[in-house]
Amino acid sequence: MRLRWLRAPGLIKRLFPDFVWRYNSDEKKVYLTFDDGPIPESTMWTLDLLKEKGVKATFFCVGDNVRKFPDLYRRIVEEGHAVGNHTHNHLKGWYNNTQKYVENVILASEYIDSKLFRPPYGLIKTSQAKYLSTDYKVIMWDVLSGDYRQDITPERCYRDVMKKVRPGSILLFHNHLKSEKNMRYTVPRLIDELKQQGYDFGICH
Ligand SMILES: [Zn+2]
Repeated sequence: MRLRWLRAPGLIKRLFPDFVWRYNSDEKKVYLTFDDGPIPESTMWTLDLLKEKGVKATFFCVGDNVRKFPDLYRRIVEEGHAVGNHTHNHLKGWYNNTQKYVENVILASEYIDSKLFRPPYGLIKTSQAKYLSTDYKVIMWDVLSGDYRQDITPERCYRDVMKKVRPGSILLFHNHLKSEKNMRYTVPRLIDELKQQGYDFGICH
């Protein structure tokens, strides 16, 4: 189900035209985003890398992870990155009624200070989106890295991302264990290559 949807971005885009799928395409700027953290293994490494490269990014956090690792969350904010709400328990919108879903986002908002929201799996009902749109700007993506895929090599992950990047792109990576190998290979190379090509890195807004 998930993969079928992700391969049909045109359809989701038509359903949700108010969501942000990509930023200004006139500027040579891209937007790195990391979903599902913060977790010590992955987020610490990501923050060290971004600091070393002098690059800012946006972290769509799971509220329950922020509850467990408040210091990591603080570090994200203190180092100048943006944060976004990704529900408290990583809920799939399609499988939860609107009240339960919205309540889970509100619970997460006690831990995550942000007016940005990204639905887990990109799956959200129109009723849920309508509700959240009054308080949040919903940030989607136009480049899905596939870092979680176990059937591709890190090099393939990197090459696929580089093929899809264009000015204004929002790139989706993960801060979870499943994506470690591909993410750790791809992100540093991508930053170096895009800098070489004259790209800047922005935070979602
Ligand atoms: Zn997620």
